[in-house]
This record gives sequence, C-alpha cells and structure tokens, in this order.
Amino acid sequence: MIDKVEDHLYLGSAHDVLHSAGKAKLKSLKITHVLTISAMPVAESDQLPDVVYMFAFAMDTPRQDLLGCSLLEDCLRFIADAINEDGNVFVHCEAGVSRSVTVVGAYLMRKHEWSSELAVTKLTQIRPNARPNNGFMKQLSFFEETGFRADNESLRSCRSYCQWCAETGNSGHLVEYERGKPADPVAETFKCYKCRNVLFHDRHLIRHWKRNGEQCQFGYLITPMKWISMSEYQGKISCPHCGEKLGQFSWGGRKCQDENDCGTPITPWVHLHRAKIDKASVPNSSAIAPSMSPSIAPHSPSLFPPPYDTSSHSRLHESSSH
Ligand SMILES: [Zn+2]
Ligand SMILES: [Zn+2]
Repeated sequence: MIDKVEDHLYLGSAHDVLHSAGKAKLKSLKITHVLTISAMPVAESDQLPDVVYMFAFAMDTPRQDLLGCSLLEDCLRFIADAINEDGNVFVHCEAGVSRSVTVVGAYLMRKHEWSSELAVTKLTQIRPNARPNNGFMKQLSFFEETGFRADNESLRSCRSYCQWCAETGNSGHLVEYERGKPADPVAETFKCYKCRNVLFHDRHLIRHWKRNGEQCQFGYLITPMKWISMSEYQGKISCPHCGEKLGQFSWGGRKCQDENDCGTPITPWVHLHRAKIDKASVPNSSAIAPSMSPSIAPHSPSLFPPPYDTSSHSRLHESSSH
C-alpha cells in the first residue's frame, strides 16, 4: 500500500518496490527516486529503469542509531534534492511502519518546523499503521532538540542524544568522529598491505565456525564499514586511500567459500583477502579514529552502518533481515 504524504512524497513497504503491482503503481505515480531504509537494498534486477535508488542500512530495533554517521542527513538530502528537482520520491523500509516513517517524519519536521509528535500524528492519519519504534521516537525528539539538525557537531552537543548513545551502546558513533581519539583500547588493527592505511580493527571481525568446530579462517569477514562504498547491491572493495582492490561485498550475503568443510551463509558478505591485509597489534592506536571518519571516505555516500559496536551488533545473527 503506497500512501501519499504530500506532493512529491510517498511512503510504503518493500512489497511496493519488489512486486509487479507495486512497481506498476510507482510508474503511474511517476516516481523518480526510491529511498530504501532497510537491511537490504533493492536488487538491481528489481530496479525500474530511469529511477534513482538510494539505500541506507538500518535495522528496525530501538537501539539502531538513525542520526549518527550522517545516516538521517543523507536520507533527508536525498529526499529534498529529488523534490527540488521536481521529482517524486518513494520512501520505504520493510513494512512502512517504523524506519521509513521515522525518516519521512524527520523530513516533515524540518520542512514545516513540526514537533516530533505532530509529525508522527500526521503520518498516522495518512498511514494508520505508522508507528516508529520507541528508540526512533526518542531520536526524533533529539532531532527536534537540535533544531532539526543531525550533523555530527549538532549531535555531539545534544546531551540527551549523547546519553542515549551511551545507554544503547552507540557511543562509538560519536567518538569515532573525533579525530585522534580511538573508540576504545585496541588489540589488533588491520591495514592495507600496500599503503598501510588502517582499515578496521578486531571488533569489526565476524567470526564463524566450520562444521568440524574449528573457527573458519577464510579471509577477513567484517561488518559493513563507512569507508567501503556499498551503494550497489554487490561489488568490489577498494582501499579508500590507495585504491588497491581488497575484496568483495554483497548485501544479499554468500556462503563462505572456504573449501574445507564450511559453507556457512554470511549476510551481508563483506570479505577482504588475507594477502591484502596486514595485521598489527597496537595497544591503543590513535590512527584508527581518523581512518574511519567520513572525511577519509571520499567516494562513499556514507550511508552505512556505523561501524558496529561490538556488544550489540557485530554478531552474525543480527545481520539477517527483519
Ligand atoms: Zn591502500
Ligand atoms: Zn567459513
């Protein structure tokens, strides 16, 4: 079910971008831009020609940070730019209940200077099942508090947001933007073998086990990182510093290719070749924070998950879509 929020702006579910009836409706509404806020982007084979797609990775959980790492700002810019170009934007998540409603709510708040409550009430009148989860409701109230700003500086000076980050294990999103300040003491860092640029550290590794109980050592499987340009459904991973090809990713996931008794399905698949990565043990590296800050991710639209926090998000089962 596609709902019109206001001129040029529509809201709905994944069903509307994946199935023929929904696609026909998008065509008849002359949709020019599709914004997906979900665990999975719209596969290329499902995309309509001449429509611009944007994907922002987010789970529908109360701990998911939609404000940090420029996620919300990037979504709002996409919507605003499309509408300014006289386009028609369709925003969706899985069910059109929580994630997409939050982003559209933030758009309405900024545009009309509405409170978070008013924005959500209006959306509920348009789409009765609209109901952002309580973590998203809180984040909309922080967005109201910052005067409808979600840039890093505004967020860092928003006390209630910082406190929420601390409570939900999202503090890394704030700390990692502060140049020279590592998020936590680091045991191991992983660098590009060619240019020595720090790419990730051990808390970003996804570990899994083979059928014989041994830990699988097939390359390095990691959580999606900001510096990896992952706006396509799948593709190659290059070093953001020297451009060296380091591995591949696929949002749809893959079975582990270790020939020796593995085959574990990993979603999303973010794989770096061992030969391309140098491992170094560093007790407390100050080099890490800058390498993950958005300014050093030149070609990334910066929509991705926040380098996940160890405690809450880096386990495999949380990567599956809801
Ligand atoms: Zn490099
Ligand atoms: Zn494996």
